[in-house]
Parts: sequence; structure tokens; C-alpha cells
Amino acid sequence: MDIYSNHINNLIEQLSRLPGVGAKSAQRLAFHIIHMSEEEVGSLTRAISEAKENVRYCKECFTLTDEEVCPICRNEKRNHRMIMVVEQTRDLAAYEKTGKYEGVYHVLHGAISPMLGIGPSDIKIKELIKRLETDIDEVIIATNSSLEGETTAMYLSKLIKPTGIKVTRIASGVPVGGDLEYIDEVTLLRALEGRIEL
Ligand code: ZN
Repeated sequence: MDIYSNHINNLIEQLSRLPGVGAKSAQRLAFHIIHMSEEEVGSLTRAISEAKENVRYCKECFTLTDEEVCPICRNEKRNHRMIMVVEQTRDLAAYEKTGKYEGVYHVLHGAISPMLGIGPSDIKIKELIKRLETDIDEVIIATNSSLEGETTAMYLSKLIKPTGIKVTRIASGVPVGGDLEYIDEVTLLRALEGRIEL
């Protein structure tokens, strides 16, 4: 049913491919964009293409950043002997918002999921193990408490323990199946403080 012109349909279709955007939201966004001024549309499209062109992985922790090494890894005041392993850059952002974590991070960009065919070599595990060749006191595994997050935590602990480096897992308190990014700061801090050695 072609109620709208091709251009509008195309815009709606592109927007509806974004995560969390259903058909109705895509329509609403499409019409909002069409009613925006040229200048506003220009700023939006520029922001999208510039982010795509310039954002890359930090060469140390693999978070998404504009620079070769991200500001956290560059910061000498951070404890570089403590690495918190998270699934996504947005999980790192959740912990950074608490302002209480002083170590550095490692972003895996996913979790092991046999069901989805995602194995250890599909996420940044090799890169993490490489980092452990330097002086590291503790690896805190802060993957989500989903099946995939727990599988990844177990895999990592088995891999790291023989090196003698302390491996801890953030405490429950993070609800089962919960994505770190949606959890409030108090819960996150409690999970970090109550971490247990694996
Ligand atoms: Zn970094």
C-alpha cells in the first residue's frame, strides 16, 4: 500500500531498521525529519556520517573513540593494573557515570553465544589476553548477567586463572538478564563493591 511517496517510504524503511524503532516510531520520525529545516537535517546527516568516519576502536581497550587511544586509557591517574571487562562501550559508559571506578576497561563487543554462533574468536578476547602480558593485578568481569554474559564470564575465568592474575565477577544485584546500561548507579556500585573472586 503506497500511501506515501517513494522518498517518504524509503525514509520510513531505513529508520525502521534501527534497533528499537518500530513501524509507528519510524513513521513519526520520518515526518519529524521532513518538517525539520534544511539546516537541522544537514546537522543530523553530518553527525551520522562524521561519527561513522571518525569513530574507531581504542587500540588498548577497544572502546569506541575518536582517537587512537581513548581518554580513559590515556589518563595516568587511572589504575592501569585493574581491568574491567564489559560487553559494550555503553556498559563502560554506565560505570563511568558512577565516577567511582578508577581502573581501566576492556570492551569485548559482544558475548559468547553458541546459539547465535558467536564464539570466543568473534569478540575481543584475544586482545584481552594480550593485555594480560603486562603487569595486571585484577580482571573484573562485568559482562551482563544473561546466559551469554555468564558463559563469557566462565570462559574468561578459565582462561585467565592459570596466569595467576586475580579474576573477579561483579556481584548479583545486577538483575538476571539485565543489561548493565539500564541499571541505576547505586546498583552498579554495589555490584562492583561486592564482586567475588572466581
Ligand atoms: Zn581505551
